[in-house]
Amino acid sequence: MSLPASDLTKKADNRTADQLGAVLPATAEVRDGHLFIGGVDMVQLARTQGTALYVFDEADLRGRMEAYRDEFAKRYPNSDIIYASKAFLNKEVLRLANAEGLCLDVSGGGELACAQAVGFPTARVFMHGNNKTPQELEEAMSAGVGRIVLDSRLELARVSEIAQRLGIVQDVYMRITPGVEADTHEYIRTGCEDSKFGFTMREDFAYKCVADVLAAPGVRLVGLHCHIGSQIFALHSFREAAAVMVDFMARIRDGYGVTLGELDLGGGLGIAYTADHEPSSIADFAEVTTAAVKDFCGQHGLPLPRLLVEPGRSLVANAGVTLYTVGILKTLPGIRKYVAVDGGMSDNIRTALYHAEYEPVIANKADQPRTEIVTLCGKHCESGDAVVIDGSLQPAELGDIVCVFGTGAYNMTMASNYNGQPRPAVVFVKDGQARVVTRRETYADLYARDL
Ligand SMILES: *Cc1c(COP(=O)(O)O)cnc(C)c1O
Repeated sequence: MSLPASDLTKKADNRTADQLGAVLPATAEVRDGHLFIGGVDMVQLARTQGTALYVFDEADLRGRMEAYRDEFAKRYPNSDIIYASKAFLNKEVLRLANAEGLCLDVSGGGELACAQAVGFPTARVFMHGNNKTPQELEEAMSAGVGRIVLDSRLELARVSEIAQRLGIVQDVYMRITPGVEADTHEYIRTGCEDSKFGFTMREDFAYKCVADVLAAPGVRLVGLHCHIGSQIFALHSFREAAAVMVDFMARIRDGYGVTLGELDLGGGLGIAYTADHEPSSIADFAEVTTAAVKDFCGQHGLPLPRLLVEPGRSLVANAGVTLYTVGILKTLPGIRKYVAVDGGMSDNIRTALYHAEYEPVIANKADQPRTEIVTLCGKHCESGDAVVIDGSLQPAELGDIVCVFGTGAYNMTMASNYNGQPRPAVVFVKDGQARVVTRRETYADLYARDL
């Protein structure tokens, strides 16, 4: 797919790096014209570590984990925060999540293996997925995973069979699709009625399946789960989902005589990808969800369940940036101006996939205004390979270091080796120190699996 035609009337925003609002990681600052994060000069870091490079502000990551934990705990003591590891996964972020007392979402055996590799307590691991293989289920249950989130009746049969064979009773949730149309992009909307995920509420299917789960040997139904989508700005969507879920819990109590003790409202809080985005705060999200659960439980006379939420993007996206080096400049008169960098759809697929927006700056010109509109394109053999389409940028020269903000979620974990591109290293920065937590791939890594 090629790029949408450039809007030649679009005006650059003349902002400097420090004027980009909520896309900036917590410790971003401009010193002597250079962008610093975690007290580390991004220009110097790019030169020593090479580019493309993923950089994470450790203070920002920890700050958001603590904000989630504390904002929920002070309003709703019986709550837990589950990090959705598919947003950004490596050993160090899992160690951080563990140290901060979070639980962990895994969506398959691979993410579980990474968690086990750092000794993440499996009792605090939740396993999701619409098609977990029998092998993945057995790996998870043998490892003592705390909750398996059932996604279908077929899966119930599998989990029940494996549990009996292993001689265990597995705690499970049922994933319900509450029919709430979240206010977000259709590709990342998951709670509406036509979805491959979960038990549909149509024709009372989910309610009837509760009977099967309650009757199945080897499983114990302890709660319900929903996840209505991602990058959601309108908090009322979460209140609507909570209403449907608590109502469903009341029906289960009334119809089956079972009071479920846990409710997991999923993730999906939106973040700032552009300087003009003003997403809801973690505190507002906590306020809306906890108030909703309290209100609706009160209305139904239900005891307050353990409440869980599963943020991914809103924990990691704004903590992460990607650094590139400018390699080629190309101006097509009357069409657009290309600034080509040494990465692209291999390290950031979101722009090619759905024209996602990002804010770039030139890290070695961070105090200069962004006076040009350019397309930051990648180095891959696809016309649609771009990181930023028609974005404001300082005038670019060969060798400049470009920093793209807000790339901490669903970039590294969706990275590929397209065109034989080794995947970037991941560096954590803090207090003036940079440490590589995932090394860059080598050429040898590219064919290491070939026989
Ligand atoms: C992806 C996902 C999340 C995290 O979503 P974000 O939008 O990144 O917060 C949480 N729960 C489930 C089941 C998911 O699939």
